[in-house]
Amino acid sequence: MRFDIAKSGSGLTYEIRNIVNVANELKKRGVDVIWENIGDPVVKGEKIPEWMKSILSEIMEDDLSFAYSPTKGVLSTREYLAEKVNKRGKIKITPEDIIFFNGLGDAIARAYSSIRVDARIIMPEPTYSTHFMAEVLHASFPPNTYRLNPYNNWKPDINELERKVKSHNSIVGILVINPDNPTGFVYSEEVLKEIVRIAKEYDLFLIFDEIYHNITYNRHKTVQLSDIIGDVPGISMKGISKEYPWPGARCGWMEIYNIDKDEKFCRYVDAILQQKMSEVCSTTFPQMAIPKLLEHPEYDKYLKDRVRHYEKLSNIAYNILKDVPYIVTSRTNGAFYMSIVFNEAVLNNKQTLPINIPDIKSYVEKLTGGNIEMDKRFAYYLLASSGICVVPMTSFFTSLPGFRMTLLEKDVERFEWTVKHLAENIVNYIESNK
Ligand code: PLP
Repeated sequence: MRFDIAKSGSGLTYEIRNIVNVANELKKRGVDVIWENIGDPVVKGEKIPEWMKSILSEIMEDDLSFAYSPTKGVLSTREYLAEKVNKRGKIKITPEDIIFFNGLGDAIARAYSSIRVDARIIMPEPTYSTHFMAEVLHASFPPNTYRLNPYNNWKPDINELERKVKSHNSIVGILVINPDNPTGFVYSEEVLKEIVRIAKEYDLFLIFDEIYHNITYNRHKTVQLSDIIGDVPGISMKGISKEYPWPGARCGWMEIYNIDKDEKFCRYVDAILQQKMSEVCSTTFPQMAIPKLLEHPEYDKYLKDRVRHYEKLSNIAYNILKDVPYIVTSRTNGAFYMSIVFNEAVLNNKQTLPINIPDIKSYVEKLTGGNIEMDKRFAYYLLASSGICVVPMTSFFTSLPGFRMTLLEKDVERFEWTVKHLAENIVNYIESNK
């Protein structure tokens, strides 16, 4: 090459995928990996029902499912989704207030890259990596965050949020992920209304990632942004990756609320749309399927059964882990993740787990030899010694050491065995250096 062409990165890595590379290396060396790292129900064995498949086959008969769609997305689907919001009787939107993207990951990238570099969105800490990376990439400066408190079942610190919003004039918007990834926290209506109040008082807009909004359990209910937003400008992000589940379809959308209430917000949404136009449109086929799948008589039962399964696994994991020393465990009430935090100062760089195969041992020693985060070190030893693959908590951009696991395993007995094994490994690792 004439000269170096690669743009220098932000230095941030997407550890949810990175840990897969380590796991695959260990797999090659003979480790039987138990994948507890990635939020894809399908790779964890979720069977796609026949009725869903036949709807998709029918849609494929229509040649237009192979065509481009309008830039904002298939009109009949946007009409259907707008009507769903309007039927709840709170805010009113039109199909023009809905924009489709190639997965919510794409929507997230566009949302932040359309914001001026000196304007910032405050986000939860820990936070789902795609939001964090897109926000930091757009600004090239450290993020503004409000903490979710692991000692209070991951409830956010609203005082901290308000203090920061008040003192940082560069903050123009608040991100909420509800239910949350990675913590599984479900926001109460009261807390959400407080966040809306802060946005209104300080003239901000709201981004609510609601991709898990129909996945709540343990008698926890939440409300959607559209039902409480009043006249504050905001965007709800929704998608089909988790619910149907169809992550490979790469299909998600933004619902824009109160675009007519603020000129600056309107220009911002227009900037997002301009970006989308340069790409023509998003995936047509899954958009066509949305109304048919959601309206199918089997859909509600299918989703309810899945949610009940996550509830079961949430309680199994909580009941095993709550009495384990050295960690803080909260019961998950939504989405399908559980995040565990190590107590302060229990981790050090001398702790290990037994690894019998010399090749694997030296691979992990090399990986953990340098200056790496304490929870990453734990995750690598856990993976090599037991095969259990979890994502280190610091990968969600927090200084809290811990890890995130999933509640997606289909085999309940295998899940129970995995969590028990995990509990033993936590104790063994921490006590290995005593
Ligand atoms: N938002 C949250 C909170 C997620 O957890 C995920 C995926 O894990 C996404 C967005 C991305 O979804 P998609 O598959 O539609 O890109």
